[in-house]
Amino acid sequence: MYYRSQSRWQKNRFQAALLALALLLAATLLVSCSNSEGNTEGNTAVPPGGEDEEPGNGEQENPEDPGEEIDYQALGVNEAGRIMILMYHEIGEPEDVWCRTPDNFRKDLETLYEAGYRLISMSDLLDGHIDVPAGCSPVVLTFDDGNAGQFRYIEKDGRQVIDPDCAVGILEEFYAAHPDFGLAATFYIYYDNPFRQQENIQHKLEYLVEKGFEIGNHCYTHGILSRLSPEDARRELALHVKRTKEYLPGYTVRSLALPKGEYPKDMSYVIEGSYEGTAYHNEGILLVGAEPAPSPFTVKYDPAALPRVRASETGVEGYGLYDWLERLSNNPELRYVSDGDPATVVVPEEMAEQIDRLRLGNRTLIPY
Ligand SMILES: [Zn+2]
Repeated sequence: MYYRSQSRWQKNRFQAALLALALLLAATLLVSCSNSEGNTEGNTAVPPGGEDEEPGNGEQENPEDPGEEIDYQALGVNEAGRIMILMYHEIGEPEDVWCRTPDNFRKDLETLYEAGYRLISMSDLLDGHIDVPAGCSPVVLTFDDGNAGQFRYIEKDGRQVIDPDCAVGILEEFYAAHPDFGLAATFYIYYDNPFRQQENIQHKLEYLVEKGFEIGNHCYTHGILSRLSPEDARRELALHVKRTKEYLPGYTVRSLALPKGEYPKDMSYVIEGSYEGTAYHNEGILLVGAEPAPSPFTVKYDPAALPRVRASETGVEGYGLYDWLERLSNNPELRYVSDGDPATVVVPEEMAEQIDRLRLGNRTLIPY
């Protein structure tokens, strides 16, 4: 009897030790892509846009321990690699070419997180301010059209609450559980009724910006720019900016997602122009397909033609999110992997020739 209970006790203790070990291992894996610096938190816990930081002063943010060096080789650091800008449309039912179900959207976030991706905003990409932990890869989320399932209020117990199954609800829930994933996305809306609840437009736009999300241009009435005269195109682009500023005084719309991905031969007036006194400047212009965007530090980077990856599993013909996740994992030279310091651009020696020195700004190039 005594022997048996002692044996059970020993067995329990052994199981407890195993459990502790497993928990420790899981915690280590979950904390970050790599913790060779031990400072992986803090980098992304603040929603992008929450801080006014200039690129290039990463030293203050990441006080380096002179004794600790990052093993670029071991982490596969490659800041000349490509960055996925994911394109979503509706979040809802049923799953379709242009509609992702709430559960599949959750699956996308989980998969990205597990594979070492962390969110950055479109503005961060345009600024070349890529602040994700060492060993992680940045990813940008974009939503076109301002569909209802992207940001919806529902009534619960007599109160208006954010629908937990809309994109904003899902993103906030995921961020609460995984603060190191970050919280960022750009909503490329058009007017008159972004997110389809007229009475909530003002509140929703304010809410999004306050949370660090961004508003992008998708033309005032979803006009297809290749089919419009330059004057009508300027109207489409400028009236969006004017209307957005009416809701959000002082807000700068920095990027454009081309409706249907179509653009005119002459892009000059799409990039910059004005109409009836309202000026616009699209520092970044997003296409519809079909590959990750070049690193903003490389000669291939063209902010006026940024390709996106369709976050869909339907009709993507080998070029959807899951195809690219696999391709990037099988071909590490294609994938942007950060060294954890936004003030440096670290690339394998053989990739150094792809770097455009003019795009480095005051960042330090470190080939290894
Ligand atoms: Zn559209």
